[in-house]
Amino acid sequence: MFVCLLCEKESLLLHRFCDSCQVVKRIMNVYGSEECREILERVCIRDNEQRLRKINLEKKTKLYGEKQAQSK
Ligand SMILES: [Zn+2]
Repeated sequence: MFVCLLCEKESLLLHRFCDSCQVVKRIMNVYGSEECREILERVCIRDNEQRLRKINLEKKTKLYGEKQAQSK
């Protein structure tokens, strides 16, 4: 019994990657690991300012939705 070489969570008998990570591996084969890493860093990793902007946007959206529901 082995664990997936990428996520290190799924137990496997025959393959090196679990089904989910196999998809990631195929994408990496197409775009290259360096480009995939850069995309993940740009899209998934947020600094404090970016997180606060998103939180404030979510709050405004929620308030706007509540005001629209009250006006009906
Ligand atoms: Zn995996």
